[in-house]
Amino acid sequence: MDWINKDRQYIMDVYARLPLVVTRAKGYKVWDDKGKVYTDLFSGISVCNLGHCHPKVVKAVEAQIYRLFHISNLYYTLPQIEVAELLVKHSFADKVFFSNSGAEANEAAIKLARKWGNQFSPPKYKIITLEGSFHGRTMATITATGQQKVKSGFAPLLPGFIHVPFNNVKAIERAIDKETVAIMLEPIQGEGGIRIPSPRYLKKVRKICDENQILLIFDEIQTGMGRTGTLFAYEHEGVKPDILTLAKSLANGLPIGAMLAKEQIAMAFSVGSHASTFGGNPVSCAAAKAVLKILTGTELLEYTRQISAFFKEKLHQLKERYKIIKEVRICGLMIGIELDIKAQTIVEKCLQRGFLINAVQANVLRLLPPLIIEREAIEAFIEVLDKILREEQ
Ligand SMILES: *Cc1c(COP(=O)(O)O)cnc(C)c1O
Repeated sequence: MDWINKDRQYIMDVYARLPLVVTRAKGYKVWDDKGKVYTDLFSGISVCNLGHCHPKVVKAVEAQIYRLFHISNLYYTLPQIEVAELLVKHSFADKVFFSNSGAEANEAAIKLARKWGNQFSPPKYKIITLEGSFHGRTMATITATGQQKVKSGFAPLLPGFIHVPFNNVKAIERAIDKETVAIMLEPIQGEGGIRIPSPRYLKKVRKICDENQILLIFDEIQTGMGRTGTLFAYEHEGVKPDILTLAKSLANGLPIGAMLAKEQIAMAFSVGSHASTFGGNPVSCAAAKAVLKILTGTELLEYTRQISAFFKEKLHQLKERYKIIKEVRICGLMIGIELDIKAQTIVEKCLQRGFLINAVQANVLRLLPPLIIEREAIEAFIEVLDKILREEQ
């Protein structure tokens, strides 16, 4: 079957797909329609952080689908309550709103911030975001996103969003006025090219927020759920936000998003303020509960930090040998390798040799391996990347 041509015939052409038809996956292995096996160092954009078809998640989902698929948020459901309790217990937050995706979680965050800002006179509504950021593909979230390629052709966008340069505290101070309601940022930029701000940057932003009665919103859709070696990336510096968004790996592959907030902020929403038909779906929540139990109740995060150190050492050894590697950026298993050549060429060559990786921002290789990745798989990848870089230099 020529699946690729059939896809092109029937599906809207918005994705730059690689020539790989995936039929099955388990752990960090992926199989194509011809039976060839690949090592997955991308986890479907940091979604299957526990590895594909994790047995405990599969079991939780299986048990739930025989009980209840859906009933509507007009009633109470158990998995949703349990996931909210776990999220609150293991974070800064007091309250949770569930959505189905990252963009929707950010939409909810933007709406909550505006609703909260509406109590001031004049109302606060302006949201500051960073250049190079990514917050989603809905109208509000493309407006929030600090990348022109995401916005172009969709004007008019929403009023009230201001972009400032990445990692620049002064620029934030200059952008603030009495109508500023929030600063929204990713603790580490994912789509922007795995950009890690300087130490203390987040602390300084927190201080600015406190001094000006401004909310701090962390978009942890990519950095959250163990990706950086802690449950949430904000834990590294202990800088707590007022609102935090999650999605991607929250249910290890089933659609879900969440917006977490402190009680004082969450109070701005009342009955009717916001809603979602599927948000907090019982099956997705059953999976999310299993994910949270594993991340908070096992040694997996400790393992992630150890395997990260191993990966880091291997990548730095490679950098010593190749001038075309300009920089290696790594936090937990969120990895960017900046090259001075086009990254997509390397991605295609890795695919041919059985490794799934990704390119962001033209010249950055992005790796988001599942947290269960093993040394042997990393060593095999480094060997392949070594060969490819030798051909390219
Ligand atoms: C993926 C991502 C989003 C958007 O999530 P969707 O589920 O695709 O809507 C938003 N913010 C960040 C940081 C992301 O990585």
